[in-house]
Amino acid sequence: MTTPCIICVAITGSVAKKADNPAVPITVAEQVESTQEAFEAGAAIAHCHVRNDDESPSSDPEKFGRLLEELRKHCPGMIIQFSTGGRSGSGKSRGGMLPLKPDMASLTVGSNNFPTRVYENPPDLVDWLADEMTTYNVTPEIEAFDLSHIHTAVAMHKAGKLPGKLYIQFVMGVKNAMPVDFDVFEYYIRTVERLAPGTEWCAAGIGRHQSTLNEWSIRAGGHARTGLEDNVRLDKSTLAPSNAALVKRTVGICEDHARPVATCAQAREILGLRAVSPGTELDQMNHRLM
Ligand SMILES: [Zn+2]
Repeated sequence: MTTPCIICVAITGSVAKKADNPAVPITVAEQVESTQEAFEAGAAIAHCHVRNDDESPSSDPEKFGRLLEELRKHCPGMIIQFSTGGRSGSGKSRGGMLPLKPDMASLTVGSNNFPTRVYENPPDLVDWLADEMTTYNVTPEIEAFDLSHIHTAVAMHKAGKLPGKLYIQFVMGVKNAMPVDFDVFEYYIRTVERLAPGTEWCAAGIGRHQSTLNEWSIRAGGHARTGLEDNVRLDKSTLAPSNAALVKRTVGICEDHARPVATCAQAREILGLRAVSPGTELDQMNHRLM
C-alpha cells in the first residue's frame, strides 16, 4: 500500500509579517484559528513559532505553553512541533520551551548561511538541544539545509543521541543555502536510504519553490511541508488567503499522484509518536471521571 503523505503546516515562522500577507497569524488566538482551519483541510503536523505583539520573533515559553494548550483543545490528535530555529532566540533560549513536551521539535544539526547572516548551530548547542529532547521525550524533525546535516543526524541517531525515530526534512531554496536542485534532491533521498534505510523524510521549498518541493516529495514517496512561514503566495500575483489554502493545494498535489493524505493517527504511527498527546489523554481521563 502507498504510504500516506503527512502534510505539515508551518503556520507563522519568524520572518513573514502582516505587511507581507495579512493572513500570517501572529497572536496565539490567530495562530489557533489558522491552525484549526489547516487541520480541517488535512494538515497532521503544525510547525510553530511564537511572536511578540509587535510581530518580532519570540522564544517565550509562556506563549508556547498557551499555544500548545489551545491547539490540543482545538485540533485533537494533531502533532504539535515547536521550532528551535535560530531566528527566534539565541543559545539555550532556543530550547527553553522543550519542557512543555510538544510531540516534536525542529532540530538543525549544523551551521550554514542564511540570506543575511550565518545560521549558527555549534556542536555543543546541538548536543544540548538533543539532550533536552531526549529528557522530555520530544521527537526531533531534522532540518537538513545541507548534505552534511544528513550525515550528522544519522551519526547522532546511531549513537543514541536523538530520541525516537529519525525523521529528516530537506530544506531547499533558502538564499545562500542549498538551492532547489533536483539532482541534489534525489541524492539526498539516496543518501538517507543508504545511511539509514527505511527512514521517513520530507521536504520544504521556500517561496515560489514550495509547490515544486511538494510535487517532488509527494511523487517520490516523501512527506510534504507547506504554510505561510515558507511562502505567502498561491502564485506570483495572488497572496495565499490562509494556511488552509496552502494545505488544500498540497492535498490537491497528493490527489494528482494518488497519494492518500495521512490522518493524524496515521502520521503518529508513521513517525513512531505516542498515539495521543498527554494533554488529550488527561482530558479523556477527566472526561471519564466526570
Ligand atoms: Zn520554522
